[in-house]
Amino acid sequence: PVPVLAIDGPSGSGKGTISRAVAEALGWHLLDSGAIYRAVGYAASMAGIDLSDAQAVTRCTETTRIVFRDPKDGGETRVVVNGHDATDEIRTETCGAAASAIAAIPAVRAALLDKQRSFRRPPGLVADGRDMGTIVFADAPYKVFLTASADERARRRYKQLKEKGLAVTLSTLLREIEARDERDATRKVAPLRPATGALIIDTTGIPVDAVIAQVLAVVQP
Ligand code: C5P
Repeated sequence: PVPVLAIDGPSGSGKGTISRAVAEALGWHLLDSGAIYRAVGYAASMAGIDLSDAQAVTRCTETTRIVFRDPKDGGETRVVVNGHDATDEIRTETCGAAASAIAAIPAVRAALLDKQRSFRRPPGLVADGRDMGTIVFADAPYKVFLTASADERARRRYKQLKEKGLAVTLSTLLREIEARDERDATRKVAPLRPATGALIIDTTGIPVDAVIAQVLAVVQP
């Protein structure tokens, strides 16, 4: 089977940055599963759907077209939702909260399984998310769980959003991220937790390059 490196962890743990760098170093494909949940949250919000209406959100999940497009000149992967480039919109914490709300609906998660698994193509896949190692790619030979202190995670997110020119304050962001993590960790379906056998890395205060090296060593000891 095509090898998978599952990288799970809470928001701001460094998953996005690390997954991208490791996928590049290995020459493997990359799945940003959070972007899929964000895209569905975005589509449902745009359609004016009540995010607690499980049936309506599930229908929306089944009909939303999500395409990842790599610009020819390199640069950030674009996320196109129903034909609209929503790359920047889906990164807001409003969209993060919408993603977290719809991600707690079991039928939504089930509807997204095939899509996520379709990214598993030779020579390999780096899968970034919350349940990559526990559910979607439970048979993955390589599993990593990244964490960091809540303060550090909020600071990283703050920096990212600032770079995108989005107006946020650190204290608000910290509150929002803690609320989202709490919901992700305590939900009934696919709660955030390290997969059995996952290498757990606390990235608080550790330089990105050092974390990349530790994760690469899991695949290439
Ligand atoms: O990783 P990111 O912050 O982009 O994810 C947004 C939200 O999507 C998370 O807070 C979580 O609720 C949900 N998610 C999930 N399962 C995944 C990836 C993301 O439930 N595999």
